[in-house]
Amino acid sequence: MASEDSGWGKAPTAASSWSAPPELTPIDPAKQNAAVEQLANKVEELSTTASAEDEPEVPSRPKHSGLVEDSGEHQVEVSLADGDQSVLYTAVSSFEDLGLNPNLLKGIYGMGFQKPSRIQEKALPLLLSNPPKNMIGQSQSGTGKTAAFVLSMLSRVNFDLKSPQAICLAPARELAGQIMDNLTQMGKFTGVTTAYAVKDSIPKGQKVDAQIVVGTPGTLLDLIQKRMVDLKNVKIFVLDEADNMLDGQGLQEQSLKAKNFVVRASPSCQIVLFSATFNDQIRSFANRFAPNANSISLKREELSVDGIKQFYMDCKNENHKAEVLCAIYGLLTIGQSIIFVNRRDVAERLERMMVSQGHTVTCLHGQHMPQERDRIMDDFRSGKCKVLITTNVIARGIDILQVNLVINYDIPLLGTSPQPDFETYLHRIGRTGRFGRTGVSINFCHDQKSYDQMMKISNHFGREITRVPTDDYMEVEKILKKAVK
Ligand code: ADP
Ligand code: MG
Repeated sequence: MASEDSGWGKAPTAASSWSAPPELTPIDPAKQNAAVEQLANKVEELSTTASAEDEPEVPSRPKHSGLVEDSGEHQVEVSLADGDQSVLYTAVSSFEDLGLNPNLLKGIYGMGFQKPSRIQEKALPLLLSNPPKNMIGQSQSGTGKTAAFVLSMLSRVNFDLKSPQAICLAPARELAGQIMDNLTQMGKFTGVTTAYAVKDSIPKGQKVDAQIVVGTPGTLLDLIQKRMVDLKNVKIFVLDEADNMLDGQGLQEQSLKAKNFVVRASPSCQIVLFSATFNDQIRSFANRFAPNANSISLKREELSVDGIKQFYMDCKNENHKAEVLCAIYGLLTIGQSIIFVNRRDVAERLERMMVSQGHTVTCLHGQHMPQERDRIMDDFRSGKCKVLITTNVIARGIDILQVNLVINYDIPLLGTSPQPDFETYLHRIGRTGRFGRTGVSINFCHDQKSYDQMMKISNHFGREITRVPTDDYMEVEKILKKAVK
């Protein structure tokens, strides 16, 4: 059977150049349906296993702590701006130790958090210390970075002062919305006022006097330039997914401009950058963006892929990818999944094709109108929509429990170059397997080039990406089963 595959995954031959694959023998539809059903069952089984883990072990335990299991093996690197480690730095083991406003503590416990996560216990004492110091924090996805900076923002606010005092920017409105949700939950008992600065959400000509502003860089910059936000009381300026915000594509310029406005109006403002990944180049830019910052790094970024079984399917060509995709989804309606593509037109074409074959899928990309994007995300979050076809617009940060399958329909590439984008890959597959759950990711290759790109990813992370055949879903099921155990 395997010989009927197109075979990118076979050991490279000496000349390693790609030649047209042999024709596939036609698939028996009955056999295929049965096999797809088994695959669907597998995914259902995965979701059931996952929700079983949600059951509280003891009555007081929050329903789902939502946190990536911490093996305690991280190598934490803390480097302090002024080098005086002994005086400044003590990690905390409880939220009480942070000396927080009781209403804030109430909010934290109300969210079901019992104790700080690893990144929180290391970062919070540094973030909250006075005089405020800049911070660059890195830890794998799902480790609770949001709560770390949301808590920092809340704890810096003077609730009697009706003026912006904290600003947080994220690369996409969906992520900003999620941060806002965290903020309103955590700040529930403090009376904090908030503004959501994303496209079309603040009426024209309306001044922003909320205490915390969460949004995207373009909208904030626009508000600043129209003098709609008073920046002089801003004490903390946060970038989430900071490496993405600083990676030189539009966002960087807007973030930098916004930060410069803030720092000019409020020179002692604390700058905080958080992300799961920082490459060397971004790191040096980050060091200039947030000068003299304390830095915390939970190494082992590869941990984020440990709970995720990675597969690839070697398709014959672009068209065959669509066929294989439909075959996978033939009966797969359980659990939730995200299909990542590299281009908007591909997302739309796939959506049309899958819908025409009777699948319920939704496509989301940057050209959708803002309200439309919010509605699509709400539907996906609530489970009303099960399959989301999207571009990198939501590759990062989005925290949805039920996603147990991520498909890289296109291998993520760096801009328009043929180089694979390791970080985006990590972020994309990090949408599944959150909270220590098991997730599955499947990469589609369709020629020697895409196969090589994927192999580079596999080598980069030192993780095997297992080949599954495209013509035998029994085999697919078997391989998945063995991998998941
Ligand atoms: P990151 O930004 O690092 O990828 P998130 O901030 O999205 O991670 O957090 C992942 C999940 O962990 C969320 O569901 C969040 O509610 C949960 N979480 C965060 N901190 C804690 C904590 N101290 N205890 C329990 N759950 C937490
Ligand atoms: Mg995050």
